[in-house]
Amino acid sequence: MAQDSKHFKYLLIGGGMAADKAAAGIRTVDQTGTLGIISADSDAPYARPALSKKLWVDPDFKETDTDFKTAAEYKAEIFLNTTVTAIDPQAHTVTTADGTQFSYDKLLLATGSQALQIPGPASDLAIALRSKADYRKIRAFSGQHKQVLVVGSGYVGSEIAAGLIQNDTQVTMVISGKRIYEDRFPGYLSEAYQQKYLDAGIKILTTAYAKNYEVKDGKVELHLASGKTLVGDGLVLGIGGRSNFKLGKAAGLATDHDGIIVDEQLKTSAPDIWAAGDIISYPDKILGRQSSAHVNHAVKSGMIAGKSMAGAAVTYDYTPSFYSWVFDISWDALGHISSQMQMYAEKLPGNKSVVYYFDEHGLIQGILSWNSKVSLNHLRHLLKKKPTLSQLQQVLPLEKVE
Ligand SMILES: Cc1cc2nc3c(=O)[nH]c(=O)nc-3n(C[C@H](O)[C@H](O)[C@H](O)COP(=O)(O)OP(=O)(O)OC[C@H]3O[C@@H](n4cnc5c(N)ncnc54)[C@H](O)[C@@H]3O)c2cc1C
Repeated sequence: MAQDSKHFKYLLIGGGMAADKAAAGIRTVDQTGTLGIISADSDAPYARPALSKKLWVDPDFKETDTDFKTAAEYKAEIFLNTTVTAIDPQAHTVTTADGTQFSYDKLLLATGSQALQIPGPASDLAIALRSKADYRKIRAFSGQHKQVLVVGSGYVGSEIAAGLIQNDTQVTMVISGKRIYEDRFPGYLSEAYQQKYLDAGIKILTTAYAKNYEVKDGKVELHLASGKTLVGDGLVLGIGGRSNFKLGKAAGLATDHDGIIVDEQLKTSAPDIWAAGDIISYPDKILGRQSSAHVNHAVKSGMIAGKSMAGAAVTYDYTPSFYSWVFDISWDALGHISSQMQMYAEKLPGNKSVVYYFDEHGLIQGILSWNSKVSLNHLRHLLKKKPTLSQLQQVLPLEKVE
């Protein structure tokens, strides 16, 4: 251990959703071991999904309500605005951007994802939404009937567009497909989704590609591949994220295309180093080796990693779900859902559906629950049984959908 290094029994890199739950997991087993969290973020751990949803549509829900209070809840020392630049697994040390060294007995990597960008200058008027600081900047350039451009129709783009239009903001969306979520949902559902946006007054430019942007005289100019330029008071990019596992990879941990390879206890290939959340490639009991950039996975894997670090004999044997909600639509999904697969829907009264996704061999790959109250545990159990299409058709009134 270096003389001037700060030592923790448990050291967590990343101050996001997985790290907060890892701290909780550690404290279920070990109430006294020293616990440090190093985070590049300017805010202590918070509920990230609220940044594009609840904070925009629930007037009683305030920014402070997103705060997990991790330091007080789990007796953790948190170092904010601090980026880890290197890990030495042999020496059990990590180094931060300002050269400070920390040492550990047990280390967790939970560095999450990075929002993708398009070319353009760094500006408070052009935000690839990921953090609370980003949320505040979007607040600052929206409202008062201002014009905001939103690029992308994944959950960040679609949710923030819905949130903005409900906050006295004019919204133009630029989406690469013909409809929001046409890549995931059958046509009748993506049409219903899109219609909600149009009814709310959102303009949608379809099959359009945002190329780059400029900031001039307090406005953002967004240039499209078609040659068209859109002008707004602000720009939000919701064009997806990239798993942020380069730190672990540089430290020599085993990785694959999707992230840091962990076993079922969420241990990496290096002694005394665990990983959780968006950055891991993990063995899913139902789906095989997976990665998942979703909150349900982040909190469940974080909890198991924390318990495992503190010595509990636990395994991550949970198949996570993912979800979104906008306007009066909410959906949850398990496994892989892609409109390229064969899709069969069980249409339920009141505009509710459960859609089953099959691969070319008729094997079930995923399930979407659309506005339905069907229990996710029930659907998870069903996915686990891996029914064939014909087996499922014998018990459910399924309709083929495109
Ligand atoms: C706006 C928004 C809405 C979302 N909504 C949904 C939703 O509706 N449903 C859903 O399933 N998922 C949603 N997600 C995804 C979900 O929030 C993530 O999957 C989850 O936060 C991942 O948790 P994590 O702990 O792995 O990473 P994060 O929560 O991203 O935390 C990573 C942390 O690591 C820190 N960090 C990164 N690199 C370093 C470094 N080198 N040194 C120190 N610290 C570092 C970051 O600053 C951050 O604190 C949403 C995400 C966003 C951004």
